Amino acid sequence: MNGKHAAVLGGAGFLGSHLCERLLQDGAASVVSVDSLLTGSEANLRELRKDSRFRHVTHDICEPFDLDGPLDHVFNLASPASPIDYAELPLETLRVGARGTEHGLELARRKGAVFFQASTSEVYGDPLEHPQRESYWGNVNPIGPRSVYDEAKRYGEALVAAYRRTHGLSVRIVRIFNTYGPRMRLEDGRVVPAFVAQALAGKDFTVFGDGRQTRSFCYVSDLVDGFVRLALSDVEDPVNLGNPEEMTILQFAEAVRAAAGGGGRIVHLPLPKDDPQRRRPDITLARQLLGWEPRTSLSDGLKQTIAYFRGVPGVAARPGEARRAHR
Ligand code: UDP
Repeated sequence: MNGKHAAVLGGAGFLGSHLCERLLQDGAASVVSVDSLLTGSEANLRELRKDSRFRHVTHDICEPFDLDGPLDHVFNLASPASPIDYAELPLETLRVGARGTEHGLELARRKGAVFFQASTSEVYGDPLEHPQRESYWGNVNPIGPRSVYDEAKRYGEALVAAYRRTHGLSVRIVRIFNTYGPRMRLEDGRVVPAFVAQALAGKDFTVFGDGRQTRSFCYVSDLVDGFVRLALSDVEDPVNLGNPEEMTILQFAEAVRAAAGGGGRIVHLPLPKDDPQRRRPDITLARQLLGWEPRTSLSDGLKQTIAYFRGVPGVAARPGEARRAHR
């Protein structure tokens, strides 16, 4: 990224802010973040703002926009991304996945930039194939509670592929599996902030369903390293990035307990509708094409995440509640 100019749509979010940081570290000439701050936050931009190569524009990319100056890459990470967020912001999620992505693609086209689309393992829905390879087309309920995100991201991939075919735009598509680390929002409802906050407050772990559903957890710096490798490659087809170490949610609760040195009992709450039963990325393509695989162990990643959450005001007093349980 040395000497390159990049725009990060969704730059004030969890992944977006880490990407901006990494691009600057890698010697980018300029990085501009565009974010409506709907789920992103000013706090995530605080360190970035100290660098004169960085600027932020508060703008909802669902509305047309342009940016001054040259751009080599447009990274599109703009979307509510936790199940609780997109359940609370269904129309916003559909809109940003559709109109927002199109405005981002038009920006890349005008600038002659590479367009990098953050897609998701949610395109596989509740998968019938395991582990999930990029060739799997998925099992998505088109009208269920998760559909606003899943279908927006599927439409996003279709749109990106169409721009590639129709306009010859250079594109990258990453399918991101569960990722965690500092700057996740305490109350976004996802299992990592929820369990970490519960452990730090000595509260019970809220396990949805029987806890035998599986996920795997990739540390944020590993994921962002994969983004950079993909952006600099010439791989135009979708690539999975995530950690292939699969575990049950019950095992994950115990991992958080061990890393935090605390936490109460396991309590079971109802499983949300369409919650995928099993998920694990097949990362053969990322290994072969990008030379990428996760390097950070779960215990190291959790330690860094826990250290971050310890510094977040109110963590001990106001444990990350399982907001879905109260819907
Ligand atoms: N989960 C849980 N307790 C919580 C939050 C989530 O048991 O307080 C479960 C959830 O049902 C899912 C998994 O943890 O099976 C991962 O949920 P998350 O919302 O982090 O992301 P998802 O992979 O579902 O998008």
